[in-house]
Amino acid sequence: MVDANRFRPRLEERLAALTSKLTEIDEDLKEHGTEADFEERATEIAGDEVLEGLGIQGQKEIGQIKAALKRIDDGIFGICVQCGEDIPEKRLELLPQTPLCTACMSASG
Ligand SMILES: [Zn+2]
Repeated sequence: MVDANRFRPRLEERLAALTSKLTEIDEDLKEHGTEADFEERATEIAGDEVLEGLGIQGQKEIGQIKAALKRIDDGIFGICVQCGEDIPEKRLELLPQTPLCTACMSASG
C-alpha cells in the first residue's frame, strides 16, 4: 500500500497548473485580435486546433486528477480501479493520477 498523501501535493499542484493553463488557452481562443501576444507563443502553439486539442487533453487530465484526489480521500488511491491490484509505486511516481495498473493500461490500449 502506497502512502497516498505523499502524492496529494503533486496532484493538487498539477491540477492548479492545468486549470490556469486552460484558462489561458480559453482566453487565447477568444482573443484573436491580440496578434503580438499570440505570435509570442506561436512557436509553441501552432493554432486554434492545437489549442483546442490541448484544452481537451487538459480537461481529460483534470478529470483524472480530481478522480485521483477523490481516491485519496476514499483511501483507495494506488489501487487499480479495474482489477483491484496495487498499482506499482514506480508507476504512480510517473503518473500519480493513473487509475489503472500497468497490465490493465496495456490491455485497454
Ligand atoms: Zn489492473
